[in-house]
Amino acid sequence: MKIKFMGGAKTVTGSCFIVETKGRRFAVDCGMHQGNAEVERRNWDIESYDPEKIEFVLLTHAHIDHSGLLPRLVKYGFHGAIYSTAPTIALLKLLLLDSAHIQEMEAQWKNKKHLRFGETQVKPLYTAKEAEATIPLFREVSYEQILTPLPGLEVKFRDAGHILGASMIELWDKQNGYPLKLVFSGDIGRPAQLMVQEPSVIEEADYLFMEATYGDRDHKNEGDSLQELEEAITFSYRRGEKVIIPAFAVERTQEIIYSLYLLFKNGRFPKDMPIYVDSPLAVEATKVFMEHVDYLDEETQEILKDGKHPLDFPQLHFSQTTQESMALNTLAGPAVIISASGMANAGRIKHHLRHNLWRDGASIVFVGFQAQGTLGRKIIDGAQKVHIFNEDIVVKAKVYTINSFSAHAGQGQLLDWLSHFRTKNMQVFLIHGEFKNQQILAGMIREKFGFAVSIPEYLEEITLRAGQKLKVVEYPEKATPRIDWNYVIGDMEAKLVQIRERKTRLEKKPWLEQTELRDRLLEINRHIAEIVSEV
Ligand SMILES: [Zn+2]
Ligand SMILES: [Zn+2]
Repeated sequence: MKIKFMGGAKTVTGSCFIVETKGRRFAVDCGMHQGNAEVERRNWDIESYDPEKIEFVLLTHAHIDHSGLLPRLVKYGFHGAIYSTAPTIALLKLLLLDSAHIQEMEAQWKNKKHLRFGETQVKPLYTAKEAEATIPLFREVSYEQILTPLPGLEVKFRDAGHILGASMIELWDKQNGYPLKLVFSGDIGRPAQLMVQEPSVIEEADYLFMEATYGDRDHKNEGDSLQELEEAITFSYRRGEKVIIPAFAVERTQEIIYSLYLLFKNGRFPKDMPIYVDSPLAVEATKVFMEHVDYLDEETQEILKDGKHPLDFPQLHFSQTTQESMALNTLAGPAVIISASGMANAGRIKHHLRHNLWRDGASIVFVGFQAQGTLGRKIIDGAQKVHIFNEDIVVKAKVYTINSFSAHAGQGQLLDWLSHFRTKNMQVFLIHGEFKNQQILAGMIREKFGFAVSIPEYLEEITLRAGQKLKVVEYPEKATPRIDWNYVIGDMEAKLVQIRERKTRLEKKPWLEQTELRDRLLEINRHIAEIVSEV
């Protein structure tokens, strides 16, 4: 049995593991690579996945870093089944199309710019049509059901407690006399998360492929999210102002609605304060949650038994059209507005911030991670003024940050989950995490449990043999990732083509500009010579 790491190796995104057993190939996840340009370039190298030879895909969950390359896989010849749970499939019908629209818009924007500089046009990573072509390949599986996608290969999806329908995958390869058991953790949820179950307990595995997103830390200030939300609501309600909550459309938005319902149920939410969900994607995703109530946790099931629905109560309104969204800007009196994107860098939320950030008494409540450079990050970092739609807006609203909504287990929770494994000589591969975080977690796993741990490289291939322990690769504490020279050279060749194109255009320009370009090129050439001599 062989495993090739196509992504999620020393990085969080691009999860895809190609498994080969007795000459048959299949993949666990097929995620989009997101991050810097070097990482995102991997999205274009779909041929290295050998799509035609992949017989089926086992899909852990709907997040794009696990599913976002499926349309490309299909475009390049994959035509097998994509096995996943019903909610994952329903969410992906929305998310893959959404992802395609983003790709199309980005390509359009780049092409406008390229046109100005006379450069070649780019194509989107995939189109909406290509995303749609993926949908018919989905095959529904239930948790705990045994699936036999190949003779001698058994698969079981288990609840990962991460987002609706998210799974861990247990896999038994019984083709040899000696059965081999693999576990892919998928993304492991935070045990105290609202709505979803706790992550399933698994006790046996010969080889465990485990996520390590928060391998280096526990969640900071994992406080009482309800109390914190209540504070913001009371503050703005008393002042007749709005509470603006930027939230990702899938999962986070529903958790917020659910939290508001819990406050409402306990008489902690003003009866005359409306709640608006203003994001078409969030509205559609909420429907998926309501259609798959059997995937929700016991606490939610209890509420449902009472004939109530935590995602559907009188004060809750959904606005879909642009007109409905715009009407919220002139709405008088206190209200809660939940809108996307979660980092406030795009989407309708920017309009709501423009209309409320400057208002004394309004509240802005951040409920998710805010990446460097985003509008959300600037606001939580205490900016006095921010720039939205070519306008400077002063920040007078009260800013709240609630950290207890993460959908990932923190370090201690990852170790707790791991503590249930009873198999001696289990080999752990840490995936889905930054290398430095993985190193920290690897050290703790070795020390606490004595399991062998390795951290695979991007495109590394390992061979697993039944009944035979794998040679463990120990990485030195401060090892730097190996340089992917093929990538570096490919990148330079692509740039060389661009330089040639620019040179042709520059030949029509004044002599001074030409000389300047020549000097810069000579300088670059000197640097390249230095690097080459070091290799
Ligand atoms: Zn995820
Ligand atoms: Zn993930």
